[in-house]
Amino acid sequence: MIRVVKLLAVDLDGTLLNEESRISQKNLDAIKYAQSNGVEVIIATGRAHFDVIEIFKDTGLKTWIIAANGATIHQPNGELFHSKAINHEDAITILSWLENENFYYEVFSNHSIFTPQNGRELLAIEMDRLKSANPDVSIEKLKYAAEKQYSQMGFSFIKSYQDLIGMKEDIYNILAFSFHEEKLKKGSSQFEYLEDITIVSSAKHNFEFEHKYASKGIALEILANKLGIPLTDTAAVGDSFNDLSMMRAAGKSIAMGNALEEIKDLCNEVTLPNVEDGVAHLIYSLIPVTADY
Ligand code: CA
Repeated sequence: MIRVVKLLAVDLDGTLLNEESRISQKNLDAIKYAQSNGVEVIIATGRAHFDVIEIFKDTGLKTWIIAANGATIHQPNGELFHSKAINHEDAITILSWLENENFYYEVFSNHSIFTPQNGRELLAIEMDRLKSANPDVSIEKLKYAAEKQYSQMGFSFIKSYQDLIGMKEDIYNILAFSFHEEKLKKGSSQFEYLEDITIVSSAKHNFEFEHKYASKGIALEILANKLGIPLTDTAAVGDSFNDLSMMRAAGKSIAMGNALEEIKDLCNEVTLPNVEDGVAHLIYSLIPVTADY
């Protein structure tokens, strides 16, 4: 069955962004082409909204933005349309444990990403230990993963999570990052008892906490409803586990060529990798450029 896609939800890292965390000219042209053909292109990312705005700078792009893994939805004009924060009590429970276990963590709020002052030092120590325990490990890859993490916009450094107690700002997302597989496993299974929390992973070295009613999939449903577009007329493209909820919600799911095999298996289609402009390739397959265009 040929279905017309009226809304395309696009993940950022590993999907629309290249290895320099930028939108290539080809991808940019393709998005504008889709928009001029009446397709509502929306961004759906684990990044914070203010971080996406920084990436959009100089591109001329204006789209609806699902950020913090679905905890926020912003209008193309930048106004907040919807949000679902973690309740503070749960946030404090999670953060006190992460801090105790020497995790590098990030707390996404309305205007900042709060992170402990010693967080980067903790990751450097992890990297050193990993290197001495396993000389074959690719330090370059680990360094790249860490640099990517640090390249987000809007960091505020805190001494401890305790600085956030009593804070008036909403907490949308808590991200924990580690190079140790066992540590990640332990952390991501630690809070299964918290009824209002879901845990997702957007990359190899992290896991993230959201309110259970915050996910890319739920946000896609809310937004499609707002725009009057049936979910059957939507498509979602991504590369990682935090994209699964929107891939399930959308009428059509597309995995990036660089996506994990498990993600590819669950999708209707696979496009090219992000470094080969997979999103542009997908858009032109959805809306072919006709001879008279
Ligand atoms: Ca991604």
